Amino acid sequence: MKGTVLHCPRDIRFESQPDPQIVQPTDAIIRMSATCVCGSDLWPYRGLQPINGPTPMGHEYCGIVEEVGSAVRSVKPGQFVIGSFATSDNTCPNCRYGYQSSCMHREFMTRAQAPVLRVPLADGTLVPTPGVPSDDLLPSLLTTSDVLGTGWFAADAANVKPGSTVVVVGDGAVGLLGVLSAKQLGAERIIAMSRHEKRQSLAREFGATDIVTERGDEGVDRIIEMTNGIGADSVLECVGTQESMLQAIHAARPGGYVSYVGVPHGVQLDGQQLFFEHIHLHGGPAPVRRYLPQLINLVLNAKINPGKVFDLTLPLDQVAEGYRAMDERRAIKAFLRP
Ligand SMILES: [Zn+2]
Repeated sequence: MKGTVLHCPRDIRFESQPDPQIVQPTDAIIRMSATCVCGSDLWPYRGLQPINGPTPMGHEYCGIVEEVGSAVRSVKPGQFVIGSFATSDNTCPNCRYGYQSSCMHREFMTRAQAPVLRVPLADGTLVPTPGVPSDDLLPSLLTTSDVLGTGWFAADAANVKPGSTVVVVGDGAVGLLGVLSAKQLGAERIIAMSRHEKRQSLAREFGATDIVTERGDEGVDRIIEMTNGIGADSVLECVGTQESMLQAIHAARPGGYVSYVGVPHGVQLDGQQLFFEHIHLHGGPAPVRRYLPQLINLVLNAKINPGKVFDLTLPLDQVAEGYRAMDERRAIKAFLRP
């Protein structure tokens, strides 16, 4: 088969790869119904995260089970399944506490921008749907694999509750779905920080009540002004830069919560400054597996339509154009059909 490989910055190739096979008895092989490009794929693509030679790419996936290993019990060939970007046994102590992305047997998925994928720990990682869903549901279902699960964790980790005032830093797909998640969790006021018109209107569609276009200290000043001088109850940091992290921390009120789900690159925090902020900080790779059944249900019951973050659809063999479009911010997120 052919799969997506990053050779060096901005050099994405769709090229021959070995056919995935069952390696462990706990593995499953799935035929991909859809996959996509993640905002986090752009870090190595832009050369901001080093790679050691040619690197197979992709970690968001859903599809039909083709084959399972001899120890797999809860997943069967023919089922439509969705899994997280982090594999999990779903039985170890970390999994039982709801932190499946820190599973003691975790592997980070890669190689998903391909037509066929091996998924380790299939029983604990994959969630089957009741039947094979119709094609029009694929974009929204695919988002549960990472980008919606991550946005949802951002809202949950920032303690969004009915009546909360929420700020979302970052207007990428995760930030936009953080807005959707905050709305679902009952936030009363959702302030999206974005200076991009198309993304602002999607944020509004997902539930944003206000838009702030200023960034950095100016952005923080606007938030403080809009919240009677105290700051927001919950702030979702969905970028991962020094500026966005400080913007998030300073936008929260004393006693407020800041979640951070953008993979940090070059972020450094000052202990004493943090001490006097008086905030709760909670982030990391989202335990998407914890939320998968709930999010899949919301999609299947047409309560949410997170698939709207895909504003570009390409055949999988044109994956390189998907990276380019996202890198140049021509597209929010690229949906890939094998
Ligand atoms: Zn585990």
